[in-house]
Amino acid sequence: VRKRTVAGNWKMNLDAKGARALAEGVRARVGTKRDVDVAVVPPFVYLAEVARALDGSPVRCGAQNVCDRASGAFTGEVCAAMLRDVGASFALVGHSERRHVYGESDELVNQKVQRLLESGLDVVLCVGETLEERRAKRTETVVARQLTRGLAGVAADALPRITVAYEPVWAIGTGQNATPEQASQVHQYLRGVFSGLYDEAASEALRIQYGGSVSPANAAAILNAPDVDGALVGGASLKLDTFLPIIEAPRARAETQP
Ligand code: PEP
Repeated sequence: VRKRTVAGNWKMNLDAKGARALAEGVRARVGTKRDVDVAVVPPFVYLAEVARALDGSPVRCGAQNVCDRASGAFTGEVCAAMLRDVGASFALVGHSERRHVYGESDELVNQKVQRLLESGLDVVLCVGETLEERRAKRTETVVARQLTRGLAGVAADALPRITVAYEPVWAIGTGQNATPEQASQVHQYLRGVFSGLYDEAASEALRIQYGGSVSPANAAAILNAPDVDGALVGGASLKLDTFLPIIEAPRARAETQP
């Protein structure tokens, strides 16, 4: 049984004061809740401050991106060791905005995965098809490729540190979420691919979050769908009154207790 995990990707939003206030609000409400893992993912420049605001709480702090190199002359980049140094415990890699706006390839994504693991950070590997790919019935081909190439060279002992986020590109920031059935279908497929890459036990343990226009109105239906283990939330994570109801979405099935 996999523990639910809900993370808020703040993207390039908020200012220092707003980031700190939001982190403190999440911390105050999540408090000692142990039935869901909660995380926030601020912009790089607010990471240290947000990590400090969350220090000692169960709410984790992650980064939105990481450099594919370990250190050196890469102006404007931020490496995994730096993220860890300022209090991040994981990073997103392969977010659709990185793949589609900045042209990141599966190979680059894989390098980022490797650097995070080498630095002791956890990984949230994002995969997802475009609308065109879905219409062409290529969803499975695309997400299988992204998963397989993204994890190339990742040893089985690192798997507890990997989470996958299925984020269909057409659902991100559009208000048009995947239906619970659509999410379940792809999550089940991804679990099968993962089982082929590793084994059945690893694939049963793998947490797969859904992301794409998750809101208080659709969170319970999506989070309770088979094989959906949590949510990666963009827009709705920027305000407490939309993020907290997602964190607290009621459960329809038994899940891990502390
Ligand atoms: C995201 O960017 O990861 C995301 C899912 O965004 P939104 O919830 O706004 O669709």
